[in-house]
Amino acid sequence: MDEWDYELVWNETMEHIRGALGEPGFSLGSTIKYVRSTEHEIIVSVPTSLQRDMIKKRYQSAMENKLHLLTDKNISIIFEINPNQAGTEDPAPSAAPETSAPAPIGPHKKEGNHLHLRENYTFDKYVIGENNNFAANAAMAVSRNPGNAYNPLLIYGGVGLGKTHLMQAIGNYLFAHSDNKIIYITAESFTNEFIQSVQENKMPAFKNKYRYTDILLVDDIHFLENKLGTQEELFHTFNALYNAKKQMVFTCDRPVSELKNLPARLRTRFEMGLNVDLQPPNYETRCAILKKKIEIKNISIPDEVIALVSKNVSSNIRDLEAALIKLIAYSELVGKPITLEIAQQQLKDVFASPRQSNMSLDTILRVVAENYSLTINDLKGRKKTQNIVFPRQLSMYIARQITEYSTTEIGQFIGGRDHTTVMYSCNMIEERIRSDPTMDSIIQNFIRLIKEYSAKS
Ligand code: ADP
Ligand code: MG
Repeated sequence: MDEWDYELVWNETMEHIRGALGEPGFSLGSTIKYVRSTEHEIIVSVPTSLQRDMIKKRYQSAMENKLHLLTDKNISIIFEINPNQAGTEDPAPSAAPETSAPAPIGPHKKEGNHLHLRENYTFDKYVIGENNNFAANAAMAVSRNPGNAYNPLLIYGGVGLGKTHLMQAIGNYLFAHSDNKIIYITAESFTNEFIQSVQENKMPAFKNKYRYTDILLVDDIHFLENKLGTQEELFHTFNALYNAKKQMVFTCDRPVSELKNLPARLRTRFEMGLNVDLQPPNYETRCAILKKKIEIKNISIPDEVIALVSKNVSSNIRDLEAALIKLIAYSELVGKPITLEIAQQQLKDVFASPRQSNMSLDTILRVVAENYSLTINDLKGRKKTQNIVFPRQLSMYIARQITEYSTTEIGQFIGGRDHTTVMYSCNMIEERIRSDPTMDSIIQNFIRLIKEYSAKS
């Protein structure tokens, strides 16, 4: 075995790819054969150029990423065509000679999907309204001109407003229209992978993977607060990619300036390119989004139902979609068309939920305070006696559960506290729920009271 015999590493990589794919529609292992390797190359063979093109487009970057992880080296996969390759189970679809291999379809459009991107998160399925116009245009500009238009692009906004969809649309576009190596990862997975690499002494591979990509998409960077080691690593990754003019895109649930537990040097980097926000859609845009979803699902729903749902579900697009899915499921299960009456009846609870009726923080504090014989000012104040601290934490927890306010906004409202205090309080209550079996029903009871109270006022 010579020094650069990567056959075992190759086999492990193939195992990984098969595992990541579930069972692919064809047998990868018998299609690709390991031939030989050098320090930075693994040469493999496939029976036809068509198979080569397909494998390259679908799996090459995933394979090379895995090779980085396993070897700490940048290894390229070189494909050879060998029509006589033994053990081929797949029928060879074409005997075209290597040199005349055409791209499988159209000049730019690639077949297949990126391993970590959802195929329906594309620009053509993204409805543009006044709420997301700026962000969507920035995302398209970045897709057309990665690394040059706006770097990094940071998209921020509340839950369910389309951050992940927009970010992945960039990835899907570039996957289809370029040969860029694209990594999409949530900040949480990035953190876990980082920790694992440290534990398993695989940091060089981790660094290689992220510093040699062309496009880096990191979703939900607010997760990085207080994760010192990961922050440090991302900082260096950022610098390497930025200097190499590689495109980076980030999403965050609030403006970066509100990420207090992120070092200033990282925050300023996130703010370097272009920061755009997503707002909740207005009524017209909600109608347009529902119509788009209905068109994609190829079903028919009367306009009056669309109007009803759009009018009553205003919190975010995820809730809008959930209401639609509920209607479709009902209609399929009972075999009846979706009428206005059915929609009204089936979505009664959804419409009445506090998320939709803009429950005020004031109401929450009022109800909690009353029940513990305290005043709203006690809850907002600084006193730390246990009879106040618990109801205060409870208010924060309930606010987090039933309103769309961010931890920042809740903290601000409840005595100008930092959002970390709100997060801490929520953790404390969750802890209580786990250890105290009566806690959950106490909370549900409060939520019911708060709903009743706001229905009256
Ligand atoms: P976020 O990441 O901001 O929490 P997502 O990107 O996951 O939100 O979006 C939630 C759901 O709403 C997804 O199913 C997404 O496809 C859909 N969605 C969001 N914005 C739009 C839009 N402008 N047009 C169509 N669908 C959208
Ligand atoms: Mg998201």
